[in-house]
Amino acid sequence: MIVDIHGHYTTAPKQLDLFRNAQLAGLADPARTPKSFDIGVSDDMIRESVQPQLKLQRERGTDVTIFSPKAAGMAHHVGTEATSQGWARLCNDMVHRVCTLFPDRFIGVAQLPQSPGAPLNNCVAELERAVGELGFVGCNLNPDPSGGWWRDPPLTDRHWYPIYEKLVELDVPAMIHVSSSCNPAFHHTGAHYINGDTTAFMQFIQGDLFRDFPTLRFVIPHGGGAVPFHWGRYRGLAQDMDKLLADHVMRNVWFDTCVYHLPGMELLQKVIPVENILFASEMVGAVQGRDPETGHNYDDTKRYLDQLDIGDHDRHLIFEGNARRVYPRINPILDRISA
Ligand SMILES: [Zn+2]
Repeated sequence: MIVDIHGHYTTAPKQLDLFRNAQLAGLADPARTPKSFDIGVSDDMIRESVQPQLKLQRERGTDVTIFSPKAAGMAHHVGTEATSQGWARLCNDMVHRVCTLFPDRFIGVAQLPQSPGAPLNNCVAELERAVGELGFVGCNLNPDPSGGWWRDPPLTDRHWYPIYEKLVELDVPAMIHVSSSCNPAFHHTGAHYINGDTTAFMQFIQGDLFRDFPTLRFVIPHGGGAVPFHWGRYRGLAQDMDKLLADHVMRNVWFDTCVYHLPGMELLQKVIPVENILFASEMVGAVQGRDPETGHNYDDTKRYLDQLDIGDHDRHLIFEGNARRVYPRINPILDRISA
């Protein structure tokens, strides 16, 4: 099977955006706060909304997508804890409806109701609901809920431990995923995302998080940010701290293949152990154009993997085997689909 572990519901019906606009307008003028979370979206509207993803799955030959709410839309920096709580719940419910209508094509991953500086109790509760009631298999964790200002402590700080305890208890991973940037110095997908990925990896080297949580699992998306290209730097920095990257971080961290050109994919595969690579495209998402040099879409990442000179064993690990280990809750779902 071919499991794309990184897709976002970027094509949700416009009612979702209208709700969000009203919710944010309500911060300034409570009279404009939406009265209900029923946003008037029918099942047919949901079916219609994911036709672009279904078309790309068919054209590119992927079987199933691990699917979460639109990452830029999380915008944890906006409003209060209550704002994030209502918004995350609604976005997760929308993804759940997609997964219910297309159970062979989408598997849910949760948005958490993070808020800058806030304790993670609400996130623990929403993760529990998403996994327990909605059948989700993981969550996205924003290392910078302040949206480009990096005001929260590093991911290795005890501030984050409540969500890690719940992740371990439920045996689900978190993808490290920032949201939109409200710092004009950082373009969100071009700089903030890649910064977030790279920063998280360095935090894991500096801290000692996996001594406290030996089974905690993180996915660092977008090919691991700048990390694979600078692998020697990170190995050397770890060595200077008397740490071995392989033991200290790489038992707990996986990189996805959202790298949008062949040379980048070749480097990723050459540098990162095959057991730590997960197939992903992040479609329909960050970069939707067509590369005039190849004539194919930048985010058609399977095409790059298909061009790599790797054997069937490694191919299986990247497309399915590693995903089954990182997201064990997908196993019964994949077994049902392939039966
Ligand atoms: Zn993403």
